[in-house]
Amino acid sequence: MRAAIFNGVGKPVTIDNIPDPTPGPGDVVVKVGRCGICGTDVHMTASHGFAPPPGTALGHEFSGEVVALGAAVNNLRVGDNIAVMPMAGCGTCTSCRAGHPFACSQMRMMMGGFGEYALANAAVAVKLPSALSLTDGALVEPLAAALHGVKMSHPTRDSKILVLGLGGMGLASIYWARHLGAGKIVASARSPWREAMALELGADAFVVSNDELAARAAEALGGPPDIVIECVGMPGILAQAMNLVRPRGMVLSVGGGLEADQLVPFVGMYKEICLQFAGAYSLDDFHEVVDALDRGALALRGLVTDTLSLDAMPAMLESLRGSNRQCKVMINPWMT
Ligand SMILES: [Zn+2]
Ligand SMILES: [Zn+2]
Repeated sequence: MRAAIFNGVGKPVTIDNIPDPTPGPGDVVVKVGRCGICGTDVHMTASHGFAPPPGTALGHEFSGEVVALGAAVNNLRVGDNIAVMPMAGCGTCTSCRAGHPFACSQMRMMMGGFGEYALANAAVAVKLPSALSLTDGALVEPLAAALHGVKMSHPTRDSKILVLGLGGMGLASIYWARHLGAGKIVASARSPWREAMALELGADAFVVSNDELAARAAEALGGPPDIVIECVGMPGILAQAMNLVRPRGMVLSVGGGLEADQLVPFVGMYKEICLQFAGAYSLDDFHEVVDALDRGALALRGLVTDTLSLDAMPAMLESLRGSNRQCKVMINPWMT
């Protein structure tokens, strides 16, 4: 079968022929339907500190049809369409039993979504209702990551939220903050071309990120933000978010910057800021996203801007390293 293989930092990803996957006892083989390109794919493959080993099959935001079952799998059947949580734990510890393999001491990523077939951990796979497409299924992982993060900020109807950065993570965070009942939400980015999408997903206002951001955001929110959700991941963003948030507020960082960032602890101390990071999800989050999509959260489908073949994936990955207008790019490994 064909799959996108990482060959090392600075080397192009190639589409290679590799052996078909064989399932372990708790795995299923999925015929991949769609796999989204994530900001993490873009950044990890360029980072000497965080790159996967050369030879790794990439792709962790995927959906597909179950075509073979491991010996111990009894919750899925051949023919089921599933959203894949791309990780496995030991299966027996407290975290695994709670549907949260991310926190398992034996957690391992199960990537390979940019391939014709891939393995998935049946214990944390979610069957897609018949009304949902495989594109919807591949949105579940990034949407669950955003949902999980927003939940950690505990928004209430009094919350004033400022979202920094309008990539897929920022836009999805706006949707969930609105869905979870946040009071006021202001979206912010350096360029205004995702303003309409941010408003459609639930933001009350859009403010360009420039020197006047603090004043303009406070004006639109009716005061400084209680919660700043950082979806940028560039050096300096944590310090900026800490300056923007109100005293005793929370900075939620989901941007996942891979470079060292400087912040001044005194700012956090005198404002008593809570600095929270988020980056995973639980099985419950996956179910919640699937249910929301099934109930008609159709605006979220607007996150998908492109659907391309596997052969087009390496060039697209490179082009996403520069400035671009793509939001979520889906790869269909069966498209010619
Ligand atoms: Zn991702
Ligand atoms: Zn475990």
